[in-house]
Amino acid sequence: MFQIAIDGPSGAGKSTIAKAIAAKLGITYVDTGALYRTVGYDVREKGADPKDGPAVTALLPEIRVDLDYVDGTQVVLLNGENLGDRIRTPEISMYASAVSAIPEVRAFLLDTQRDIAKKRSVIMDGRDIGTVILPDADVKIFLTASDECRATRRYEELKAKGIETSVEEVLADMRERDHNDSTRAVAPAIAAPDAIHFDNSWMKPDECTAAVLSKIILPKLGLTL
Ligand code: C5P
Repeated sequence: MFQIAIDGPSGAGKSTIAKAIAAKLGITYVDTGALYRTVGYDVREKGADPKDGPAVTALLPEIRVDLDYVDGTQVVLLNGENLGDRIRTPEISMYASAVSAIPEVRAFLLDTQRDIAKKRSVIMDGRDIGTVILPDADVKIFLTASDECRATRRYEELKAKGIETSVEEVLADMRERDHNDSTRAVAPAIAAPDAIHFDNSWMKPDECTAAVLSKIILPKLGLTL
């Protein structure tokens, strides 16, 4: 069994690359952002302020967040319900970012993330995988891309889902979220000292997947495909 950690800012292409690599290696892809999004969704539904630590913490005993796999695809369940794309809106992105700065929320989601990596080989993406969740991961990658490139990608993703916005708006939200994520006191979104940095600005997903696999992952794991 092995563990691959992919961290980096939003829109860096982590999930696209990690999914493709999981398929090529026949291992499980874990999208940890979906867990924070699910907590953010619940907080919004209950009308609580996502920046109010005690108020959000008081909601946690009433919710269950489960990670499951259906035909190899990850689903996150909130009290047994699969929320699907409802957790993918820009508003929920901001809720997720706010609740993720609350230490009790991070502690609440910790075991769910570690437990899955104990049972199978995983490629897990997030913000603190290499630093906190899987500090002994076999491979750690910090994936980045320029702000403009990341905003353009996220804009295209949202457009494909029918969510109306603009590149400028996405860029502003993204910068705010990156700032929150990288400056928070607990588990800030920073690279682990032993992570390999990879900038994939304007690279096509296939190109980036092939490069990350052949230049970083396969040599590190001593594998060939
Ligand atoms: O990766 P994604 O954009 O879906 O993550 C949503 C938010 O969840 C991020 O902006 C970040 O605040 C938070 N997050 C986190 N730690 C992780 C994954 C996501 O704090 N491991």
